[in-house]
Amino acid sequence: MPSNVNTLPTLLPASETIFELTVPILIAGAGACGLVAALAAHEAGCEVVILERDPLPRGSTSMSLGALCAVGTRDQSERGVLDTADLFTADVMAKTGGQADPALAHAVGRLSGAAVDWLRDRFDIPLTLDTTWKPAFGHSVMRMHVTPGRSGADLMDRLLYACDLAGIPILTNARVTNLFAERDEVMGVRYKRPDGSTEDIGCGALILATCGFGGNAGMISRHIPDMANARYFGWDGNRGDGILLGAALGGEMADMDAYQGLGLLADPAGIDLNPRFLIEGGIQVNREGLRFSHELDDLSGQGARVIAQPGGVAWVIFDERIHASCADLPQYILLREAGAVVQAGSIETLSARCGINAQGLQKTLSDITDSQTDRWGRLFTGPQLQPPFYAVKVTGALFHTQGGLNVDAEARVLHPTGRHLPNLFAGGGVARGISGRGPSGYLPGAGLCTAIALGYAAGKSAADLVLAGRPKLGTNQPTGPLLGENQRDGTSVR
Ligand SMILES: Cc1cc2nc3c(=O)[nH]c(=O)nc-3n(C[C@H](O)[C@H](O)[C@H](O)COP(=O)(O)OP(=O)(O)OC[C@H]3O[C@@H](n4cnc5c(N)ncnc54)[C@H](O)[C@@H]3O)c2cc1C
Repeated sequence: MPSNVNTLPTLLPASETIFELTVPILIAGAGACGLVAALAAHEAGCEVVILERDPLPRGSTSMSLGALCAVGTRDQSERGVLDTADLFTADVMAKTGGQADPALAHAVGRLSGAAVDWLRDRFDIPLTLDTTWKPAFGHSVMRMHVTPGRSGADLMDRLLYACDLAGIPILTNARVTNLFAERDEVMGVRYKRPDGSTEDIGCGALILATCGFGGNAGMISRHIPDMANARYFGWDGNRGDGILLGAALGGEMADMDAYQGLGLLADPAGIDLNPRFLIEGGIQVNREGLRFSHELDDLSGQGARVIAQPGGVAWVIFDERIHASCADLPQYILLREAGAVVQAGSIETLSARCGINAQGLQKTLSDITDSQTDRWGRLFTGPQLQPPFYAVKVTGALFHTQGGLNVDAEARVLHPTGRHLPNLFAGGGVARGISGRGPSGYLPGAGLCTAIALGYAAGKSAADLVLAGRPKLGTNQPTGPLLGENQRDGTSVR
C-alpha cells in the first residue's frame, strides 16, 4: 500500500485500485449517526462495517449533554404530550425564520420518534422523555429525551454496546480519506492508518457519518467567518471530511454558515453548563453585573452575545432552589469538583468572589419582576432569586456546525439538480441540518435528533438499495471476500 496518500479528502477513479475486500454497506464515522445507521442496516439484513478515524469512538456525541428532541414518541404520548411532525416543523420554521427545508424538518420529526421507540424496543436503549426540560428555546412542547446517565457519553456507550451485541465490526484508527467512484457512484473508499499506510475497501453503498467541520479552521473561516476566532468546543477530529468527500462526488452543500454556539461554556473549566439553569430562572450578567439579553430566546445565538461582553465572559447567576434541582446533572457535578461554582450568602460577597460589580448585580436582581416582560422580552414566572446565590463564569463557543450535504427524507445525498446520488447517504453533522442559516435557528436537541433520525433513515435506505441489487457495480467490481471475523482489524473495539 502506498504510504504517502494525500490526507485531504478527494475522489479517485475506481480504476486506480483493485479491492481485496468488499462489503455491502460501509459507514464512515462511529458517532451516534454512524452507530444508529449500522444498527438499522444490520437489522434489515445487511452486512455493514464502520470505519472510525480515532482509536476509540467518542466524537461530539460523547461530549454532548445527551439530550435529543424526538417527536411523537410513545413516552410522550404516555405522559399526555401531544406532539406531531407538523408541530415540530412549525417550530423549526418559526425558529429558523422560514430558512430550514420544511420537507427535511418534517422527515426528521417523523423519523426521530420512530427511531427513539425502535432503539428502546430493539436495543434496550431507554431514551425517555425528560420532563425537567420544559418547552423552551423554540420547542412548543416537551420533547427532550435522555438516557438514564443524562449524558452523551452514556448514550454513546449504549449504542456501542448494542453494535457489539449485534456483531457489527468497527475498524478504528481508520480515517476515510478518499472515495473511489465511477461517475457519481461510490465503489469503495481508501482509509488511512496512523502510521500513514492506507487500505482500500469496496462497498455497495456508503453512509457518511463523520460529523461537521468545526475542527477545520480553514472551513470555519470560509463558511462561518464570524466564529473564526471563537473557541471550538466540539470533537477536534471532525474536520469536514465527509462533507468534502460528498461534495467532490457532486453532492450539494447547503446552509454552510449554520452552527450551534453556546454561551454556557464554563471558563476556564471547559465544561458546558446545562441550559436548565436558565430555564429554571437563572440569569446571565456581564462584569458590570448587568444582564444583556433574553437568556432563553436564542440558546445558540447566546454564544456570540457572551463573546461580545467585556472580556468575552459572563456569569450565570442562580440560587439554592435552582442549585438543588440541577444538583445531579453530570456536568454540574464535574463543575463543582473543578471548583468552578461560586457560592455566597450575599450579593456583595458573590460579586467580590467573582469580580463582578456588586451595585450593578444588586440593581439587576431588584429589577427582575414577575409582573411584566422585561426590555429583552423575558417574563420571569418562577420565584425571585433568593440568597444564598451561586455563580458560574462562562464564555461563548462554537459547539458544532449545522451545514452540510443536502439530503432527502431517506438520507440520500442530493445533487444540485435535485436528483440523488446513486449510493451515497449522509446524516448527523455531515448532512444539512434543520437550523436554517447562522446560529439562531438551532433548536436544542436538534444535533442528536438529526444524527439519530437520519442515521436510522440512512441505514434502512442503504440496506433497501443493496438488498434490491443496486447499485450496478461497474468494471471495477470488488471481487474479494466479505470482511469476516478473522479479517477484522486488530484495533477494532470489538
Ligand atoms: C459540548 C457539546 C454538547 C452538545 N450537546 C448536545 C445535546 O445535548 N443535544 C444535542 O442534540 N446535540 C448536542 N450536541 C451536538 C451533538 O453532539 C452532535 O450534533 C452529534 O453528536 C453529531 O453526531 P454525529 O454522529 O454526526 O457526529 P460525532 O458524534 O462527532 O461522530 C463523528 C465520528 O466520525 C469520526 N470521523 C471524523 N472524520 C472521519 C473520517 N474521515 N473517517 C472516519 N471517521 C471519521 C469521528 O472521529 C467521530 O467519531 C453537543 C455538541 C457538543 C460539542
